[in-house]
Amino acid sequence: MSYVYDTENIFAKILRGEIPNNTVLETDHTLAFEDIRPHAPVHILVIPKGAYVTYDHFAAEASDEEILDFTRAVAKICKTAGITADEAAGCRFISNAGEHGMQEVPHMHVHILGGRPLGRLVDPA
Ligand code: 5GP
Repeated sequence: MSYVYDTENIFAKILRGEIPNNTVLETDHTLAFEDIRPHAPVHILVIPKGAYVTYDHFAAEASDEEILDFTRAVAKICKTAGITADEAAGCRFISNAGEHGMQEVPHMHVHILGGRPLGRLVDPA
């Protein structure tokens, strides 16, 4: 893969502590914090601490330990936020990538959205 990581992206600055955030969960390899412009009552961003640009980049190149840590963090966040589909009303996971995905911040992240009905996944073209 030939992804090039921009070390000056906003999430890299958050990870370095240069920009504040409302942290929801921090683990060895993962940070989760509230989105600054929430689209739903629950809108949490989950990012790996490693330098990955997109989800596919992370999935291809992160270590097993990083992937496990990230995945388990997502589960904990949903449970804590009370938005799992088994015990509550469910949620949505989104990971935008690149131009067509309209990714704004080029550091891999998953949006977790919940707390209201979220409509259809995408607008018909
Ligand atoms: P993307 O379009 O890349 O998938 O989403 C990037 C998200 O990052 C957006 O939902 C945007 O509101 C959020 N965001 C951008 N800058 C900041 C920031 O400085 N702090 C936080 N907490 N969220 C941010």
